Amino acid sequence: MRGVDDPHQMTDLPTSLRERLAARFAASRPELVAHTVADEGHTHKVLLRYPDGEAIEVVLMLYPRRATVCISTQAGCAMGCPFCATGQAGFRRQLTAGEVVRQVVVVDAALRSGELGGTDLPAGAPDHVTNVVFMGMGEPLANLEATLATVRWLHDPDGFNLSARGITVSTVGLVPGIRRLAELGLPLTLAVSLHAADDRLRDHLVPINRSHPLAELEEAVRDYRETTNRRVTIEWCLIGEVNDSHEQADRLATIARRLRAHVNVIPMNPTPGVQWKEPSRGRTRAFMDRLEERGAAATLRDTRGRDADAACGQLLASYTLGGGSRLPVAVGAAERVETVASP
Ligand code: SF4
Repeated sequence: MRGVDDPHQMTDLPTSLRERLAARFAASRPELVAHTVADEGHTHKVLLRYPDGEAIEVVLMLYPRRATVCISTQAGCAMGCPFCATGQAGFRRQLTAGEVVRQVVVVDAALRSGELGGTDLPAGAPDHVTNVVFMGMGEPLANLEATLATVRWLHDPDGFNLSARGITVSTVGLVPGIRRLAELGLPLTLAVSLHAADDRLRDHLVPINRSHPLAELEEAVRDYRETTNRRVTIEWCLIGEVNDSHEQADRLATIARRLRAHVNVIPMNPTPGVQWKEPSRGRTRAFMDRLEERGAAATLRDTRGRDADAACGQLLASYTLGGGSRLPVAVGAAERVETVASP
């Protein structure tokens, strides 16, 4: 049976095989240890813990006709971006392809059964996962084989059977991985986390830039677009007084025009342990206006989940840093936990 996580429910398989599978999968089955709901039921964040104690977060965002699940590929991250909670916590281990796939399966099953969303499902939101974005913890292209295997399974008609256009893989700019992704020949969306538009600032904000500087990254992204015929997006975490200047906007607009890319600007969330702040409303507006004046296609994104516990990496950060005290913990069940910090 498709989309079930428990081999005992795979009633189209022989009983003996179900039992063997159950015994084998039990060792890697994650436990849902925390669940927060935000944005009036539109955003669900769940913390999954694997038997070895590692925890990762999965975010489900519900829109009319779209249910997007944001998955993690690593426990922690080695990229060390100084504005990111996950980057501060460091790298712990790679997730296996099975563990990455499992995140989609668990959320999809919980959505279908009503465990997530349930009777409070926002109007028009589907009861199953329609889109997957690799934007959770970790750098997907630093766990390349698991990421490629997950993409193949997501798209496979005998797997999750998702349209390639419903899959987005993000990267901070691992050029060899971008080239391998292009070789799949699928029209996946590639989301490049740029965050700085000159090497000097980017070396600091996104340390991998020292190995793959902007010119090399731009060339790989251009090749990706030409191979897949798919528009690339540029992600820009807007950090107050760091990368929100007119000068950065001008450089970013030039790159975006050259790549014919769409820019998503996401104001930084306040992050535990990070000294930088979100930009002021005035500077955010000025940055967006400048991009428009310079001919870049750009959208200011809301920071989904801000009132649950902010963005990428932060559910785990506060769970760990707070010793579990800030997040109510629901062991073993998708128990609905009301928003911790409601507006
Ligand atoms: S921003 Fe992404 S790549 Fe950078 S440290 Fe955080 S999770 Fe890793």
